[in-house]
Amino acid sequence: MADLDKFRRDTRAWLEANCPPEMRKPMTSEEDTFWGGRNTKFSSEPQRIWFERMRDRGWTVPHWPKEYGGGGLDGEEAKIVRQEMAAIGARLPLSSFGISMLGPALLKYGTEAQKKEHLPKITAGLIRWCQGYSEPNAGSDLASLQTRAESSTKPILLISGRSPFCETFFDDVRVPKANVVGTVNRGWDVAKYLLQHERAMISGMGERGVGRPLGQVAADSVGSDAQGRLEDPILRGQIATFEVDEAALAAAAERAVDLAKAGQSHPAFSSAMKYYGTELNKRRYEILMSAGGIDALEWESERSKGGARPRAWLRTKANSIEGGTSEVMLGIVAKRILDLPGA
Ligand SMILES: Cc1cc2nc3c(=O)[nH]c(=O)nc-3n(C[C@H](O)[C@H](O)[C@H](O)COP(=O)(O)OP(=O)(O)OC[C@H]3O[C@@H](n4cnc5c(N)ncnc54)[C@H](O)[C@@H]3O)c2cc1C
Repeated sequence: MADLDKFRRDTRAWLEANCPPEMRKPMTSEEDTFWGGRNTKFSSEPQRIWFERMRDRGWTVPHWPKEYGGGGLDGEEAKIVRQEMAAIGARLPLSSFGISMLGPALLKYGTEAQKKEHLPKITAGLIRWCQGYSEPNAGSDLASLQTRAESSTKPILLISGRSPFCETFFDDVRVPKANVVGTVNRGWDVAKYLLQHERAMISGMGERGVGRPLGQVAADSVGSDAQGRLEDPILRGQIATFEVDEAALAAAAERAVDLAKAGQSHPAFSSAMKYYGTELNKRRYEILMSAGGIDALEWESERSKGGARPRAWLRTKANSIEGGTSEVMLGIVAKRILDLPGA
């Protein structure tokens, strides 16, 4: 009790020293209420001073916890602040739906992250909240509200067991005009040009890059004979054919670069490369799976690095779909490069 008496004396003294005389007069217009918000303006200098002093003391919302910008006062102390403010006619330094409605709801139901994100901005008057419940057919009958939130994305699980893709739904999207690329209503030209690059990129999957040659990888599993050749003659034949085709793809890729440099590249050539590169990559993984035998089917173990090989093998099945299917690539080659009749 003695503590509360002291708290009352201190509060009275602080308010006396800090509340500007102009802020002790009855309000006469809407402008006398300070609502805060991003575009806020103070209607007078005393209004600004009063708000900032109360904010710095945590007394825009005296009973909220200090870590959220409140004053950390208990119920009795907060009551004393209200009483002493009323005694000198002090105006509320900040009025907001954030303080009176959203904040209490977040304090009761919000996660810690939500509280930390929103409550300090409310107590500091940085954000002005509104409440949007009513709908044309749900005013008094509020429980018949139709508004609902939907996750706009839905994960797509691939056969490799991974889910790096998702369906994303866009409704009534507005895009600033500054984002238009090229000419309005000629987006298809831009889209096709981008696809050429996507197909060129995907075709690179057929090239070996820095990976070990297939023959060496296979030798780890099936072993080599006295002459250093793979023990399995069928696999040996498959790998030899594959490596010739791989070299052909690399040569074609170099040719494509040279033609591009000379300004002679055919816009549809990337489709031929996409077709060949992705079909080749699928063959590479078929061979890797054959070479690995039953071990190659391990799906979860530490030894198999979480089934890295079979998951990668299954992922290659999508290479001839993504970026345009192989059938469609062949159609483009037939029509635009070979100029075949009826294509
Ligand atoms: C792993 C993966 C990643 C992807 N990533 C993206 C991405 O990042 N962005 C994106 O926009 N899309 C992406 N896609 C979508 C991809 O581009 C399409 O799946 C692809 O173009 C095939 O279209 P579709 O699935 O509608 O099949 P459909 O067009 O319905 O084709 C079904 C079948 O019919 C055949 N077919 C269709 N038309 C013809 C024709 N004219 N001639 C001959 N055969 C034909 C096809 O070859 C296929 O076998 C991705 C797909 C996969 C699998």
